[in-house]
Amino acid sequence: MIALKDIEFRYPGSDFCLRVPEMVVARGTTVALIGPSGSGKTTILNLIAGILVPDTGHIATNDVDLSRLGDSARRAFRIQNIGLVFQEFELIEHLSVLDNILLPCRITPAISLQQTHRDRAADLAREVGLADKLRRYVRKLSQGERQRVALCRALLLEPALLLCDEPTGNLDPINKAHVLQILFDYVNRHDTTLLTVTHDHELLPRFDETIDCQQFHASSEAIA
Ligand code: ADP
Ligand code: MG
Repeated sequence: MIALKDIEFRYPGSDFCLRVPEMVVARGTTVALIGPSGSGKTTILNLIAGILVPDTGHIATNDVDLSRLGDSARRAFRIQNIGLVFQEFELIEHLSVLDNILLPCRITPAISLQQTHRDRAADLAREVGLADKLRRYVRKLSQGERQRVALCRALLLEPALLLCDEPTGNLDPINKAHVLQILFDYVNRHDTTLLTVTHDHELLPRFDETIDCQQFHASSEAIA
């Protein structure tokens, strides 16, 4: 379960203020996060992931109160429990497809890279149609291929929670349908909680719930 309670968050030196009195997402639920640009969708994902820390309030992610963890514990928790697909993919251009998918194993001392990880990375790449590109540098891939690499990386450690920031935003209709199929197949098979930012209102019926982030957006003046 994810639970946000009495959250306030501001970026230093910015007017933007996010206020979430309450938001609860039950385990295994799929949620579409909608709202205009600048309404705080990415900020909410980063708060749930523990990348950002709220000024006030509590966030429980998979029933763990992130505010009780220090920076390194929060980071280790994130890598082990949360699959993240970022808006800009955040791949490493000079590494191969395989090495990008394996990154979660490389960036935390809590996990040591095993052959099982390599096998799983290859299986995932095959599922998304990248089996023949495992050794290729990411900088030589198309946008659709990059997005699929980002998805494989997010699924490597079989996370119970998936946070995706416009995962189909840069894709043509065929790639979009493909990425969504992979995402929902995974979620249905693993009883995963999924939060996805999307601007595509045609997709909303595929999700259990829709949350409009505009309601959480308050200017500093409105608070004062
Ligand atoms: P969305 O994802 O809905 O487009 P964001 O969560 O990215 O919105 O941003 C919400 C607001 O916070 C915007 O006004 C944006 O300019 C501001 N913002 C985002 N990131 C930062 C940052 N690192 N520092 C200062 N302001 C930021
Ligand atoms: Mg955003």
